[in-house]
Amino acid sequence: MCLFCEIAAGNIPSKKAYEDDSVVAFYDIAPQAPVHVLIIPRRHIESAQALTEEDNTLLCHMFAVARELAVTLGVAESGYRLITNVGKDAGQSVPHLHLHLIGGKELNWNN
Ligand code: 5GP
Ligand code: ZN
Repeated sequence: MCLFCEIAAGNIPSKKAYEDDSVVAFYDIAPQAPVHVLIIPRRHIESAQALTEEDNTLLCHMFAVARELAVTLGVAESGYRLITNVGKDAGQSVPHLHLHLIGGKELNWNN
């Protein structure tokens, strides 16, 4: 199992922000901003590059969870960034699809 599959399964501890049958959100271990949460599908999908049309509902749901968390975490009004890194040149370090929800400060392009 990959690191985020282990986190989704609860085998590796994390501070959860949200979870349901298909999606888990947890606080990033090395936050780049006051708000930094990772939103992942429970099912192992390597990256956005591996998504198919069959994942449309799941992907919409991940964005719905992001919107809900943005409200809960107090950044829906001030704004936030949703990022998904794909592969080596983007610096993807965990090969399991994840959305970074980052906010709580004015963001530069790099963070
Ligand atoms: P990537 O670089 O692949 O886009 O993002 C991976 C993210 O996962 C990084 O921001 C990193 O800090 C976070 N991360 C790596 N290992 C762990 C962990 O064990 N627990 C948590 N909560 N976050 C992790
Ligand atoms: Zn995985």
